[in-house]
Amino acid sequence: MKVELQHVTKVFPSRNKKSEEEVVAVNDFTFTIPDGKLVGLLGPSGCGKSTTLYMICGLQKPSGGKIFFGEDDVTDLPPENRGVGLVFQNYALYPHMTVRQNIMFPLQNLKGTDKLTKEEMLERTLGAAKLVQIDNLLDRKPSELSGGQQQRVAIARALVKMPRVLLLDEPLSNLDARLRLQTREEIKRIQQKTGITTVFVTHDQEEAMSISDMIVVMKLGVIQQIGRPQEVYDDPVNLFVARFLGTPPVNVFTGAIRDGYLYVGEDKLLPVGDLPDTEVYVGIRPEGFIPQADGPLRCHLNNVEVMGRDVSVVSTHPASVNPTVRSIVNADIPVDTSAETIRYAIKPHKLLVFDRETEKRIYLGSEGK
Ligand code: ADP
Ligand code: MG
Repeated sequence: MKVELQHVTKVFPSRNKKSEEEVVAVNDFTFTIPDGKLVGLLGPSGCGKSTTLYMICGLQKPSGGKIFFGEDDVTDLPPENRGVGLVFQNYALYPHMTVRQNIMFPLQNLKGTDKLTKEEMLERTLGAAKLVQIDNLLDRKPSELSGGQQQRVAIARALVKMPRVLLLDEPLSNLDARLRLQTREEIKRIQQKTGITTVFVTHDQEEAMSISDMIVVMKLGVIQQIGRPQEVYDDPVNLFVARFLGTPPVNVFTGAIRDGYLYVGEDKLLPVGDLPDTEVYVGIRPEGFIPQADGPLRCHLNNVEVMGRDVSVVSTHPASVNPTVRSIVNADIPVDTSAETIRYAIKPHKLLVFDRETEKRIYLGSEGK
C-alpha cells in the first residue's frame, strides 16, 4: 500500500499560556512512501518524526494537508479504520496477560464481517508469533521476557491484524547495543517477508541507513532530503545532512573559493573552475584523506589509533571547525607517527563544499548542477 503525504502540517498551540508562540512540529511535509518499502524517518530529537508518524496512524490530526493510503483519502479516518499497526519505543504490553493474550488482543475487538472465531484468532496469533520467532514463549508473561523478546511481542501484536502499513516509533531505543543490532535485522527480515509498507522512525543515523530502502532526513519539522541511504550520504544537499550522516562524522573546515581555487584555511586544495569567490565550509569524510608527502592539506599530527584493517589518524588544523580532524586510512599506507605534520591529498568525491551563509551545497565543476 502506497502512502502519500501532501503538504501535511501540524501546528501545536503554545503550551505556555502567556506566550502566543505556536510550535510548527511538521511543516509542509510532502512525500510518497512507495508500496512495500521500508522508509526511515530520521532526524534529531524534536524534529517532528513522531508527530508525522502519528498523523499517518491517525492519532494526530493534521492542521493542514492530506494523507492518502493508495487512492483513499484517509485524512479524516480514525486510526482503527486505517489498517495500521503501531509499535512504540516502550513495548506497552499488558503485564497481566500472557504473550498469546497480548498478541491476540487486537483481534478480539473486531466487529461485523471482520469478526473472527476463536480458532481463527489462535491461528493468526500463532502465525504472527512464528514470524517474529517467539512461538515458544506464548504462555509466558511479559515480565518473564527479555527486552528484545518483549519488543518482538509488540511487533507481533502490530502484525496480527495484517495491517496495510506498519509504523515503528524508535522501536529499538530501549534495547542494549547487541539486541539493537539483532532486532533491526529482524525487522528488516519481517518487512521483506511480509512486504508491508513500513515507516521506521529513529534519531540514530546508522540504524536508519542500515535497514531503510529510503531515508527522509528532517530538521525542525522540515524535510531536508529524501533518497537511498548511500545517495544521501554521498550527496548531501546541505551541511546539516552532511553532518547528520556518518560515523565518525564528516570533518568540517572553514574555507573559501578564491580566484578559481578552493582553500581550506591557507591550504590551496584544488582548482574549481569559474565559480565566483565566496566564503565556504568544506566537509571531508573521514575516508576521504590520503596521506601523501606533498599533499595540499597540512595538519598537525596528534596520534594514530590502530583499528586492525584501518588506522584512525587524529590531527588538528587551524581551519577545522571541530577540535580535531579524524581520518580513516588503510593500514597499508605508512604513516610516520613521529612526524609533527601529516599532509593529505583529498579524494574529490569525498569533498563537500557548502555556502558559509546558507549552508547549502556548492557543486564543484565535475559534479554537474
Ligand atoms: P521527534 O519525534 O522527532 O522527537 P515530535 O514529533 O515528538 O519530535 O515533536 C516535534 C515538536 O512538536 C517538538 O517541538 C515537540 O515539543 C512538539 N510537540 C509534540 N507533541 C506536542 C503536543 N502534544 N503539544 C505541543 N507540542 C508538541
Ligand atoms: Mg519521537
